[in-house]
Amino acid sequence: MTTETHCPYCSLQCGMRLTGRRTPEVAAWEEFPVNRGALCRKGWSAAGLYGSRDRLTTPLVRDRATGEWSAVSWDDALDRVAAGIRGAQDARGPDGVAVFGGGGLTNEKAYSLGKLARAALRTSQIDYNGRWCMSSAASAGIRAFGLDRGLPFPLADVEETDVLVLVGSNLAETMPPAARHLDRLRELGGRVVVIDPRRTPTSDRADLVLQPVPGTDLALAVGLLHLLVARGAVDEDYLADRTTGWSQVKESVAAWWPERVERVTGVPAAEVRELAALLADSPRVMVLTARGAEQHATGSDTVLAWINVALALGMVGRRGAGYGCLTGQGNGQGGREHGQKADQLPGYRRIDDPAARAHVAGVWGVGPETLPGPGRSAYELLDALGTDDGPSAMLVFGSNIVVSAPNATHVTRRLESLDLLVVCDVVMSETAAIADVVLPVTQWAEETGTMTNLEGRVVLRQRAITPPSGVRSDLDVISGLASRLSTVPFATDPEEVFAELGRASAGGPADYSAITYDRIRDEGGVFWGGERLFGSSFAHPDGRARMHAVEHRGTAEQPCADYPVHLTTGRVLAQYQSGAQTRRVRALPDDGAFVELHPLLAGRLGIADGSSVRVSTRRGTMTAPARVVTTIRPDTVFVPFHWVGANRLTNDALDPASKMPEFKVCAASVVAA
Ligand code: SF4
Repeated sequence: MTTETHCPYCSLQCGMRLTGRRTPEVAAWEEFPVNRGALCRKGWSAAGLYGSRDRLTTPLVRDRATGEWSAVSWDDALDRVAAGIRGAQDARGPDGVAVFGGGGLTNEKAYSLGKLARAALRTSQIDYNGRWCMSSAASAGIRAFGLDRGLPFPLADVEETDVLVLVGSNLAETMPPAARHLDRLRELGGRVVVIDPRRTPTSDRADLVLQPVPGTDLALAVGLLHLLVARGAVDEDYLADRTTGWSQVKESVAAWWPERVERVTGVPAAEVRELAALLADSPRVMVLTARGAEQHATGSDTVLAWINVALALGMVGRRGAGYGCLTGQGNGQGGREHGQKADQLPGYRRIDDPAARAHVAGVWGVGPETLPGPGRSAYELLDALGTDDGPSAMLVFGSNIVVSAPNATHVTRRLESLDLLVVCDVVMSETAAIADVVLPVTQWAEETGTMTNLEGRVVLRQRAITPPSGVRSDLDVISGLASRLSTVPFATDPEEVFAELGRASAGGPADYSAITYDRIRDEGGVFWGGERLFGSSFAHPDGRARMHAVEHRGTAEQPCADYPVHLTTGRVLAQYQSGAQTRRVRALPDDGAFVELHPLLAGRLGIADGSSVRVSTRRGTMTAPARVVTTIRPDTVFVPFHWVGANRLTNDALDPASKMPEFKVCAASVVAA
């Protein structure tokens, strides 16, 4: 038997075929338009997720005194969790319990989790790890366009542009099947520009590579806009017809001449001029940002600055042009639409909008007045755990916080201070290992559900194999807890949940009400809102895009005598996110973390390639082997974040609009260990 489904990992959601009922085999699904049968090594080896000896198959509870784990029945485990939640809420009120979700959860799970928090537990304290991934682009998209859909066009449109500008994206390594669009674009005569402090496999496909100091992408964007104004390349008719705010933006870029940009960004003024000329002379320009530009305390302003460039050129809404964000997590798009965000109800509705509350409460069969208001963002929530004002119990679904949170040592202490930590996972992740109760759940090919890929295309992951006995789906867990703590009904059949999600989202910015499982199967995925957006109007009430004058503020930490270099973090091809899945797939190399640094820096510090180095920041220290490479700036070191350690170093400074932590840059010291 063959099942058409999608990869368990990133936001490309490559189509694949699975055969075999117990141990699946992966085969190409050539007809699926996004990847046309191509997969990266993570996708080809995805079946390796099965057969791991680490797989959990029974609920476990931990004795805090001895640290011993005991197997318990599902009823016992859920009763204990329900009792713990009741205790926390009796002592601290409804917000005594928190819920933490993930950007890898299916739409059905993300929706049900938001409903569990608001309708059954009545807590405002829910957020998810996607806050640390796409929230700056989401915040900027809503402010600029009135709507956040990462790519407002199919990814294949990349091939139709004349100049593609990738800001902080290592697309060739993070989603290799998408790199064919870059190759095709260049075959057709288009140009690729990569802006990244490191030269990466994506830079190898570029015509122009700019390597700014980490955290200075905003200054580069305003410097480009300054030059575009000076060259008369701005589309004044478009700006007058389709935008507001241009005069303030124009004034704000007036003083950003190329030599000033060079002083701030480290990019030679000649290269800034070269890129400006390329943009000015090209009929179609497309700008795509990713985490490199977004995971900063100024991330949302940085995205707004690049949106300003695309708008000023009159590109947004034109075919083969415009602005988009390359979402990272598997359901990074859908996961931010249906209610697991602190300020949101399903359909990308705002939780503080009375009409939205009335609509969703009606679908849930509860009074709108019973729904809580906005809660804390992900890091703020974790920072509050176990404090006098914070929750004393937390449920975690689909997230390995101990590895992926910024300032991770501090966050781990906060998790350990809880009276009750419950983790639903497939393996004993680093976060599950410090929990009180671990609930073993189904994964990927063992269950059915929808994901929304980086293009806003809703796809269907179909169950292909039988789960191990003893595990339950997250939907079962949510329903089991809800039935113990409330009278609100929760469906457990994914298709039924999706239909309810459709009703709850109807009329909202992300309206799924016309999408069905059958349509997704028949049409190879369904775009919510349509295939291409913003062709004739934006989603603000007056139909115009908003331009925002934004200022370069610099990074939260500047290098100093004690911490003289920039530390940046990112991914490697063979691993995914916190590595809880990929580190257990035997076919994927698990070489551990490393510290990438330039020969000039290595020589000054007496560090040889392969030798052990210690990287320290104000928050922590880690040791890993050195990789001495010429592809990184001499003032910057890079550490991949898939292993415990990197995020003990990262900075928890937050973007004021998106609450995105500054994962991508902090001040560090490096010494031979
Ligand atoms: S690019 Fe992403 S979705 Fe495609 S196979 Fe690789 S990890 Fe899976």
